[in-house]
Amino acid sequence: MAAGRNGRTVRDLRRANRTVVLQRLYFDGPLSRFELGPATGLSSGSVSNVVADLVAGDRAVRVGDGGRIRCPKCQWEPAKTDRWRCSPGCEHVWNTFETRGRCPGCDKQWTDTVCLRCHEWSRHDDWYCDGQG
Ligand SMILES: [Zn+2]
Ligand SMILES: [Zn+2]
Repeated sequence: MAAGRNGRTVRDLRRANRTVVLQRLYFDGPLSRFELGPATGLSSGSVSNVVADLVAGDRAVRVGDGGRIRCPKCQWEPAKTDRWRCSPGCEHVWNTFETRGRCPGCDKQWTDTVCLRCHEWSRHDDWYCDGQG
């Protein structure tokens, strides 16, 4: 698991693959893992790894699915299509709830998230109202 001295590790590769897959999902909508291969140019093995990581790892991706995420201040519920910008940061634009506050561009972990409606900042974890915390 240690990083090799060649720089590019399996972990880096997986993360890059995941970014590609997520981008396709954002722009093309829901795709099965069989459609994702041709869409992303990844092998079916890579796609399987990415999907497994997404399902097992970052237990996020609940946006628009029963209102489990909402602004603690004004109760606004973000949609899958809403976007946050990594700023100050790498200026990457993505849905922060897809990654539980981690920027896919630079890996910065955002502990607070701004509401796109009331513009108040709240702790990222406070947005999740599934009973934890
Ligand atoms: Zn960033
Ligand atoms: Zn709000």
